[in-house]
Amino acid sequence: MNPGTNRTVVRTCPLCEATCGLELQISDGKVVKVRGDAKDVFSGGYICPKGTAIAAIHEDPDRLRRPLIKRNGHHVEVEWDEAFAEIEQRLLPILEEHGRNSVGAYLGNPNVHNMAGAFYVRPVLKALGTRNIFSASSVDQMPKHVSSGLLFGSPGAIPVPDLDRTDFLLMLGANPLESNGSLCTAPDFPGRLKAIRQRGGRIIVIDPRRTRTARLADEHFFVRPGTDAMLLVAMIHVLFEENLVNLGAVADHVNGLEEVRVAVQPFSPERVAERCGVASATLRRLARELAEAERGVVYGRIGIHTVGFGTLASWATDVLNILAGKLDRPGGAMFPLAAGTRAGKTAGGRGFKTGRWRSRVRDLPEVMGEFPVATLADEMEEPGEGQVRAFITIGGNPALSTPDSERLEAALEKLEFMVSVDIYCNETTRHADVILPPPSLLERGHYDTSFANLAVRNVSNYSPPVFAAEGPSESDILARLALVLGRQGAKADPANLDRLLVRGLVEGHVANPASPLHGREVDDVLAQVGDRPGPEALLDVMLRMGPYGDGFDDTEQGLSLQRLEANPHGIDLGALEPQIPNVLSTPSARIELVADSLITELDRLDRVLEEAEPEGLLLIGRRHLRSNNSWMHNIKPLVAGRNRCTLQMHPDDAAKRRVEAGGVVEISSRVGRIQAPVEINADLMPGVVSLPHGWGHGQAGSRLGVAAAHEGVNSNRLTDGLPLDPLSGNAVLNGIPVEVVASPGS
Ligand code: SF4
Repeated sequence: MNPGTNRTVVRTCPLCEATCGLELQISDGKVVKVRGDAKDVFSGGYICPKGTAIAAIHEDPDRLRRPLIKRNGHHVEVEWDEAFAEIEQRLLPILEEHGRNSVGAYLGNPNVHNMAGAFYVRPVLKALGTRNIFSASSVDQMPKHVSSGLLFGSPGAIPVPDLDRTDFLLMLGANPLESNGSLCTAPDFPGRLKAIRQRGGRIIVIDPRRTRTARLADEHFFVRPGTDAMLLVAMIHVLFEENLVNLGAVADHVNGLEEVRVAVQPFSPERVAERCGVASATLRRLARELAEAERGVVYGRIGIHTVGFGTLASWATDVLNILAGKLDRPGGAMFPLAAGTRAGKTAGGRGFKTGRWRSRVRDLPEVMGEFPVATLADEMEEPGEGQVRAFITIGGNPALSTPDSERLEAALEKLEFMVSVDIYCNETTRHADVILPPPSLLERGHYDTSFANLAVRNVSNYSPPVFAAEGPSESDILARLALVLGRQGAKADPANLDRLLVRGLVEGHVANPASPLHGREVDDVLAQVGDRPGPEALLDVMLRMGPYGDGFDDTEQGLSLQRLEANPHGIDLGALEPQIPNVLSTPSARIELVADSLITELDRLDRVLEEAEPEGLLLIGRRHLRSNNSWMHNIKPLVAGRNRCTLQMHPDDAAKRRVEAGGVVEISSRVGRIQAPVEINADLMPGVVSLPHGWGHGQAGSRLGVAAAHEGVNSNRLTDGLPLDPLSGNAVLNGIPVEVVASPGS
């Protein structure tokens, strides 16, 4: 990595779930050109504006290079040893005096986009020992994890639409032309959608907004926000009523069919149509078309998950696919088999449980070991044993991205101590007493451990660092944090934890009678791993012990990190293949179509249908191709152009309220009030208004110069922390009742 030479490197873009290959031209230590890697086995040269901006993120002068400590209300740069000593001196006494639950932790979305997050966050949490763990999952995809846990026994068993082979794609609450796909890793999602139509297939989009994706589709239907569960359950009803249920390939692996038939009986299309805003004839036709499609699939995403019936909607999506014979079948909904998964899994397991412990203030069940982030402020504000007095954030900005954020900001301000691992001093980390900045995206090795489990092809690629890191690696930072929390001292060597983790992983395989490593000498295996950094060593073991791995057998041609390094454009491991029954982890080793909790939710849905429809406007979110939550708003090329933080409103709704295009409106909900410029837009369903999230910059103490000049307003000042999807604890971010009035003087 001689900075004086000109070179071209390829690497996987870590900025979103699509995992595109990038080609970077580097001259004199600077990235001078970024384009799509035409030879990447998955993305084939596709790139979006965010990928092009990766050099600007690396070079952003506001990106922190050295740790900050708050002294007299202001952040000052310090040495790394001083930062860890400060944490040791101030955090440990809080833990000693008030117990492990007195320190909360929040994990942001960037943790699933890097190896340090994948491998080193867990040791931090383990050393901390707290039950007050929160993450961005409960403002995003938690309903999918819960429905997968109930249906398939594992929250990570998420079927994805087999985009490259389907001929009928019904999409709800997803806008991949802006998001590039979510819970469905598919570089060039737009190209893959166009290919469906080019081969004679059909795309149908159901969404309260006529999005860019909807405009590409063959048909688009508006739906009232929050009613997707009714719509999907009504389609299941049609499959039973019209004898269209055909389980296909999974027929021998399903429990609970009759219970589902009985449970969905009250939900005829005719009963739900008016509430959903979709005609009953349309619902019946779509159910028939799905059943009849040779290769068809239903795919639902954030718009149907971040609502009060999020888990039920997610469950109904998968149940529709199952009952229409589309699960585990080419062109339908299929399970990826990622290179990093453990080889040799067979059907069956312990299943999935939530509520193993409950939150202190609102008595909410844990889900996947964490509490809903919507109750974070409660846990900080409410005095008593277990009150969150100190806080650790790792890559995230909950002050902008979680509900009732004004209240959360006030709670953050009152904490006794806060540590953030983050590249920016943003709206959240400005409250931190210590900020530990990891190196840039281009200064670390990269492998997508999470998104390989959601990819529409089985693919594996590793990217080495482009530049040497200026400071310690992110895994070293997290390891030192774990060691401080584990009372090993602020100067403990992070390599100790590396060795412990790698040895522990190998020992697990050696001790497992089903593993090809069973009985081998641990030290012999470790010698084969060699002297790699901790994350790379862990990755190497995972790859070699995975379903495509060499199993540490030199005579095998299987996957290893060394082999990936020799194939910088990635290795294509083939199209998705049927995984049932082995993917199932339920105690019965079968798909469990029903659970008591889901029946309870169907009963609640039935009652809601009987209640009067709420009047007034409903607020939904909005995604833009050049944004990814809040953190790319400090990158000039990504915020250039007109103000995107506007309230979109249907012309009829605007006229009723005497709101004029270009004016400023006041938007209020139960918990907050903000002002935003308005755009009159007939692409909105009447009665629905839309505002993007992740804005609201320019706060005192943050260090985001570009974002401060494009501050926008924080939509989460309107989201209410009280209503939740009860099964997942996910916040309700779509379908928020709001009032909109023209601002005085606008
Ligand atoms: S689509 Fe996602 S992965 Fe691909 S270039 Fe854009 S940000 Fe990067």
